[in-house]
Amino acid sequence: MLSHVAPAGTRIELADLVSGVAGAWQAPGDSDDLAAELRNLTGLPHAWPVSSGRAAMTTILKVMKDSSRTADRDEVVIPAYTCYSVPAAVERAGLLPRLCDVDPATLAMDPAALERCDFSRVLAVVTSNLYGIPDDLPAIEAICGQQGVYLLDDAAQALGASVGTRPAGTFGDAGLYSFDKGKIISTMQGGAIVAREGELSTRFAEAVASLPVTPMATAAALYGQLIVYAILLRPVLYGLVQRLPGTGLGTTVYDTHYPLARLASLQVGVAISLLRRLSDMNGHRRARADLLAAAVAGMQGVECVAVPAGSIAVFPRYPLRITPAGLRQRALAALVSAGIGATGSYPRSLADVPQVMARLRHPREPMPGARAVAESIVTLPTHDYCPPGLPSRVGRILGECG
Ligand SMILES: *Cc1c(COP(=O)(O)O)cnc(C)c1O
Repeated sequence: MLSHVAPAGTRIELADLVSGVAGAWQAPGDSDDLAAELRNLTGLPHAWPVSSGRAAMTTILKVMKDSSRTADRDEVVIPAYTCYSVPAAVERAGLLPRLCDVDPATLAMDPAALERCDFSRVLAVVTSNLYGIPDDLPAIEAICGQQGVYLLDDAAQALGASVGTRPAGTFGDAGLYSFDKGKIISTMQGGAIVAREGELSTRFAEAVASLPVTPMATAAALYGQLIVYAILLRPVLYGLVQRLPGTGLGTTVYDTHYPLARLASLQVGVAISLLRRLSDMNGHRRARADLLAAAVAGMQGVECVAVPAGSIAVFPRYPLRITPAGLRQRALAALVSAGIGATGSYPRSLADVPQVMARLRHPREPMPGARAVAESIVTLPTHDYCPPGLPSRVGRILGECG
C-alpha cells in the first residue's frame, strides 16, 4: 500500500504560511493579535502564546507553586492516562505527580476517584480532555473548589470543544492549548496559557514577560518543517515519509528538556490564520467522527468513547476501545497495512511509566482504569486529508477482523 492516511494533522494552506511571514514583520514577539483571538474564543480576559503546551503547563504550575500559601503542597493530581508531557511538565516545575484513575468509558479522570484522593499535599489538579472529548469539567471544578486546590484545565487536544456554553480550557484557575503536530491546529510547536481575572493572572503575565522570545533561527527552522508537514500530510506523500527511518513519527516520549519561551511571530501569524478556520475544521472532524461511530456501531468488541451529555467534542483523532487484546492487535495491524493511520495512542498507563513511577509518593496505588485504556485504545484519523470512503473502509476492515 503506497498511500497512507496520517494518524492526525492540520491542513495548512498557503495563506496560513503567508500569514506567518506577515506576522514576522511586526515587532519580534508581538503576539497581541493571537492573544486577542484566544480571548475572543474563550471569553477569558487573558491569553499568552508560548513555545509549547509543555511550556504553558510548566509556567502555570510554577506560578501556582509560588502563589500557594503553604510550601508543603508539592503534588499535582494528573490523570493516570494522559500525554507523557504532563508528568514531565510537573517534574520541570519542581513538583511531584499524583495519579488519579480514569474511567475507560470516557477516558477522563473519574470524579468519584478524584473525590477519594488524599488532598493533604495537593497543590493542583490537571484535566486531560483527551481526543478533544471534554472531561466532566463541572464536577472536577466543584471538587477542586471544595478542596481548595488549583485547577489547570489542560485543553491541549481540545481547542474549540465545550461543556454547555463554556469552552474546554476555561474551567478552574487557568487553562492551556497546544499547537503541536497532532493537535487541533498546528504551528509545528506552540501553545498558549489562558486565565481568568485574579491574583494568578497578574503573576502569569509577569512569568510570561520574563521568558525569552523563541530565537529567530529556531522559529525559521520550525517554519521550514511546517512547510514540509503541510505538503507531506497528503496520503500519497505521507506513505513515502512513513518509510523513512528516524522521523520519530508517532512516538511517545518523557522529556523534560524543552524551551520555556514566548511564541515566535512566525508561528503567531500561522496560528491566527488557522484559528479563523477553527470552527470549520472542527465541524469536519466531528462529521468524520460521526461517520466512524456509525461504521463500527454494534460491532462485537468495539466501543466508542462516551461524550458527556451537553458537551461538544472536537476529535483531533477518533478513539475506539477494542477488546480483547488479540482482536485489538489484529485490528491495528489490518488498519495500518491498509494505509490507515490507526495508532495505539500512549502505550501505557502513567502508573507503568518508569520515569513517573520513580516520582510517586504512593507508587503502589492501582490504576485499573488507566491500564484498561492503554490495553484497548485505538485511534483513527479525522483530518482534512482523510479520503471520503475512510469510515466505511474502517468498518469493513474491523468487520473482517472480528
Ligand atoms: C500534547 C499535550 C500536551 C503538551 O503539549 P505540547 O505542545 O506537545 O508541549 C499536554 N497535555 C496533553 C493532554 C497533550 O495532549
